[in-house]
Amino acid sequence: MKILVANLGSTSFKYRLFDMGDTEATLLAKGGFERVSEYTACIGEMLATLKADGHLASGDDLDAVGFKTVLGKDLSGCVEADDRVLAALDGFKEVAPAHNPAYAEGIRCFKEKLPAVTRVALFETAFFQWVDPAATVYAIPQSWRELGIRRYGFHGASHKFIAERSAELVGNDAVFERARGLYVDGPSDYSGDPLRVISCHLGGSSSVVGIRNGVAIGSSMGFSPQSGLPQNNRVGDLDSMAIPYVNKMLGLSMEEAERQLNKESGLLGLSGVSNDARDVREAAAEGNKDAQLAVDVLIDSIRHWAGSFYFKMGGAEVISFTAGIGENDANLRAKVCAGLEDLGVVIDPAANDATVRGKEGIISAPESKIKVCVIPANEELVIAREVYRFKQSH
Ligand code: AMP
Repeated sequence: MKILVANLGSTSFKYRLFDMGDTEATLLAKGGFERVSEYTACIGEMLATLKADGHLASGDDLDAVGFKTVLGKDLSGCVEADDRVLAALDGFKEVAPAHNPAYAEGIRCFKEKLPAVTRVALFETAFFQWVDPAATVYAIPQSWRELGIRRYGFHGASHKFIAERSAELVGNDAVFERARGLYVDGPSDYSGDPLRVISCHLGGSSSVVGIRNGVAIGSSMGFSPQSGLPQNNRVGDLDSMAIPYVNKMLGLSMEEAERQLNKESGLLGLSGVSNDARDVREAAAEGNKDAQLAVDVLIDSIRHWAGSFYFKMGGAEVISFTAGIGENDANLRAKVCAGLEDLGVVIDPAANDATVRGKEGIISAPESKIKVCVIPANEELVIAREVYRFKQSH
């Protein structure tokens, strides 16, 4: 089954073409375009390339297109990307302004260009559908809650992959099957060996999630991808009183405050150096105190959320690191896990230092009660798998 995964940024269009089977997934092709203002022409060019390279006879040779949609109003899960999805994206376009309009536009373009090819949306919030309301509801007036203001959680495709892969790594087949079937079967009854995972997705955008037996129990991210850990240039968690206060003291309008929190905060705002964690780390190593503070704030925030999920789950069997920072920054991983011997976390420094550049590995020592893993992110594969399962079950 040929499945195309479309990754739509506000100015870019990237794609991967997979040949999917029940047990196998083969990446046939990948490519993309930058500085995109309109997707229809890119889709045409992509199809021409895929035909010329012998991957497709025509556009209709595709079985489905999968979209990693971010946040839908009153809608989540793995669903057909129809008018309901377009309305849901539109309903929250103010909350995810960099993502929702791009996906809505992309879905429309695929519909126009390839009307016969099934379109499937896998929302980034899907993995968090079963989180207990006590962990998703904000203590705000009912009229606010009725607008859909609550904690959602993002990076769902990435954390879902960690739920599956970490179960495979520790040989817990029952949790692996449960995590695999989640979007089709829901969280089925479970009585096997426990697998509690603290999943740290640390990249340009970061979140920490607690996963019990393959199902998320909560995320550091809340109403928007703006929340939780400090991000590359976005603020992360902030006390809501700060906004009216800067309005009064600095004369910032709501729009300007929003812009600064979205573009001039996070690692960039703290370090004054860069929104790229590598530059910040280098500057810190050269003695830049602001850059060091940015690194320290990030580490503290990761530990804050990891500690929260450890407590809520009553322990953990696995701590997992993924994405650009999580996969590459051995020093940061060591600091996140430092001083946790009483919880049963012992890092093997040699294994930790050797696990970089997209390598999978276990970086804890054999005597560590909690296994600490590095698992390379593979979000596109998750989309392709879920779209495949969606097609099989519909
Ligand atoms: P992602 O969003 O997963 O692509 O991750 C991007 C982030 O990973 C950027 O902030 C990069 O600076 C960071 N990153 C990539 N390689 C390294 C590295 N070797 N050490 C630290 N951070 C890295």
